[in-house]
Amino acid sequence: MAGTHRRPHADAGRRPRPRQQGPDDGSGPTAAGEQVSFEAVLLAPGAEPRRLRVAGSDGPGVHHLRDTGDALSISHALGRVHRLVVVGGGVLGLEVAAAAAMRGVDVEVVEARPRVLGRGVPAPIAAWIVALHEQHGVRVRTGAAPDAVQRSPDGAVRGVRLIDGTVLPADAVVVGIGIEPREHLALVAGLACDDGILVDASGRTSHPAVFAAGDAVRMRRTGESYGIRLESFSAAGRQGEVAAHTMLGRDDTFADVPWWWSDQYDATLHSTGVATPDAREVLVGTPEAPLVLSMAGERLVAACGVGHGPEIARPVRAAGRVIAARGRVDVRELRTSGGDPASLTAAFRAAARASV
Ligand SMILES: Cc1cc2nc3c(=O)[nH]c(=O)nc-3n(C[C@H](O)[C@H](O)[C@H](O)COP(=O)(O)OP(=O)(O)OC[C@H]3O[C@@H](n4cnc5c(N)ncnc54)[C@H](O)[C@@H]3O)c2cc1C
Repeated sequence: MAGTHRRPHADAGRRPRPRQQGPDDGSGPTAAGEQVSFEAVLLAPGAEPRRLRVAGSDGPGVHHLRDTGDALSISHALGRVHRLVVVGGGVLGLEVAAAAAMRGVDVEVVEARPRVLGRGVPAPIAAWIVALHEQHGVRVRTGAAPDAVQRSPDGAVRGVRLIDGTVLPADAVVVGIGIEPREHLALVAGLACDDGILVDASGRTSHPAVFAAGDAVRMRRTGESYGIRLESFSAAGRQGEVAAHTMLGRDDTFADVPWWWSDQYDATLHSTGVATPDAREVLVGTPEAPLVLSMAGERLVAACGVGHGPEIARPVRAAGRVIAARGRVDVRELRTSGGDPASLTAAFRAAARASV
């Protein structure tokens, strides 16, 4: 759900494959063979979960999570297994790990990078979440990746072998290693794609009659030289609305400050904004409810916090209003404000008011 940056669109753009059919004629076929005519088309095909591709990973007991059917089959499996390996220490993998641990399953999370939540969540917040998982008995192994899923002769999952040869006993595996935008239709239509259908802030693709929105797109927002994929309900919904307005000839651009949250055990993690790679991180809050601000100079560009219960949502949403107003915050003042969620919320609200 966090944003992923890419190089500027100008030098991006995967080479379109040869076109088999295109939007130039104002018509196109459906999968059922029906020819549909149009003046404008919106592509919103979403994304696919990235598949784990190692020996033994195809077959029962290895779960990927995208839709309700996947969620139900994982929930069903959790009622039957004793040992679960979760591949991927992102939001999705950690939420599954928490749900499994709370159902009494022995859980180990395997993350390839040096730390979990490496995409968009600051290190102190990720460390807080890891400590919480460890308190619930979950083992988190970083810098490790599966090499094979081991199965018994009847095909049941028996373990996960890591690249270093370690074998983690397991009765089931859940994979949460990110998503891949569904670009196929766009590529066939000859549209520019680069890990996402490339669109501008109004949802326009490289073809004037085709628009796109949601998890499938990499959007370059106004003033940005890079494109970003925003994997969240709120962004997908608003991008669709913006694209619809543009298709109807109304001026509209996506300028929302992205936000998302994650519930794990009794804790809530909230995040807003997009931390640019060169942003400076400042830790405020308390040990029970830390909040990391990403600063571009004095300007707040992102905020991410965590805590037990829902209280952390308030300062993060208030910080979102400062970001939307392109406001500044006085970090020294925030540090002396007491740091609890209520004081931080008041400070951000004041900063937002001062920015308009
Ligand atoms: C397990 C899970 C938990 C999540 N939790 C959160 C959360 O807590 N908060 C949050 O903000 N976001 C969350 N997300 C992300 C959120 O679901 C997505 O960002 C959002 O659904 C994207 O909307 P979309 O319309 O772009 O794609 P989707 O919701 O994936 O919809 C795309 C639709 O297009 C259909 N489609 C694809 N190709 C074609 C085709 N060729 N022809 C016709 N139809 C097609 C697909 O079947 C699908 O129904 C979660 C995602 C997952 C998987």
